[in-house]
Amino acid sequence: MAYKKVFLKPGKEESLKRFHPWIFSGAISKYEQEPEEGEVVEVYTSSKEYIATGHFQIGSIAVRVLSFVPCEINRDFWKEKLAIAYDVRKCIGVACNPNNNTYRLVHGEGDNLPGLVIDIYGKTAVMQAHSSGMHYSRNDLASALAEVMDGVIENIYYKSETTLPYKAGLGQENGFIFGGSNENVAIENGLKFHVDWLKGQKTGFFVDQRKNRALLEKYSKGRSVLNMFCYTGGFSFYAMRGGAKLVHSVDSSAKAVELTEKNVELNFPGDERHKAYAEDAFKYLDNMGDNYDLIILDPPAFAKHKDALRNALQGYRRLNAKAFSKIKPGGILFTFSCSQVVTKENFRNAVFTAAAMSGRNVRILHQLTQPADHPVNIYHPEGEYLKGLVLYVE
Ligand code: SAH
Repeated sequence: MAYKKVFLKPGKEESLKRFHPWIFSGAISKYEQEPEEGEVVEVYTSSKEYIATGHFQIGSIAVRVLSFVPCEINRDFWKEKLAIAYDVRKCIGVACNPNNNTYRLVHGEGDNLPGLVIDIYGKTAVMQAHSSGMHYSRNDLASALAEVMDGVIENIYYKSETTLPYKAGLGQENGFIFGGSNENVAIENGLKFHVDWLKGQKTGFFVDQRKNRALLEKYSKGRSVLNMFCYTGGFSFYAMRGGAKLVHSVDSSAKAVELTEKNVELNFPGDERHKAYAEDAFKYLDNMGDNYDLIILDPPAFAKHKDALRNALQGYRRLNAKAFSKIKPGGILFTFSCSQVVTKENFRNAVFTAAAMSGRNVRILHQLTQPADHPVNIYHPEGEYLKGLVLYVE
């Protein structure tokens, strides 16, 4: 199959020679024939040497690279990539594990599939396209996925309502491509939770905190826990299993609080140690007492773009300062940032400043990141987005 050709400006192939998977629109000198949004294109250097094949998109990232060797992008291509991704998850130990059926199967660039996210919840795969190219490939992708995970998954739900580029004008699309079961209880490290792939954020659950939740469980015994920004309550039910004295879950969304209560009930029916509140984080932290000795701060991304970085860092400073000022002596703080544009150093500095403002002695016990089923492509360091610190506050 002949793909349309895109030619780069002189010297603009350097990052591609280092296998970086993005080509910015400013690097392109000309098109042999103007490609359509979402089309597969072949990229050539200014001296007409082939360098990559990828999905074309109108916008600042013009091409997302799928391959650095000439090939056809078809169902077989997807099948090979998905089989590797599945193998990686088996090798990590999150797939084919009776104690865990929730994991990320495809993490975009981290799995050499830029623009695609697939999360597995038991027998259901939730697939999200972040590029028009992946959207157009959704049926081939789903068919290849059904073959690679035959006998494991029975349903594929496509959820790209909020993730497709707005300008592409593709409209909304949410629905089952395969199967259609409403069985929506999944298991993470032996704990159960409902997944709302229809209305929930992301693919329905934050699968990237699995390992960090397991660490929290170990710190929970006998502690009074505040799970701030609880969403579906992940950290809360781990804290309860860890033997927490009490667990308070807070989120500004009433829907999230309802989901948390439902999930706690699923695992610990009638357990009176748990209470959930729908309230703004800053307000709650201002008005709460000083009885908590384990606090989790896992806010939404404060900065989605570089321009918002300053305000975001201020947000992390303010938030953490409030926790430092109230946490009991000998308390443990789990604090996170999931903003991709906030670096590890930025985040650590914000938390450092907040600690200094409180005047407390603070030790870093753990430096956390995303789990192995959210791999970072070594050629695409931007893929490292989740940062966390576990702190002991004297
Ligand atoms: N810790 C969660 C994920 C958090 S996602 C987990 O483990 O699954 C971020 C959450 O913050 C969302 O549920 C959102 O509703 C909530 N949120 C956003 N702004 C908030 C605010 N100002 N106060 C409290 N919660 C807020």
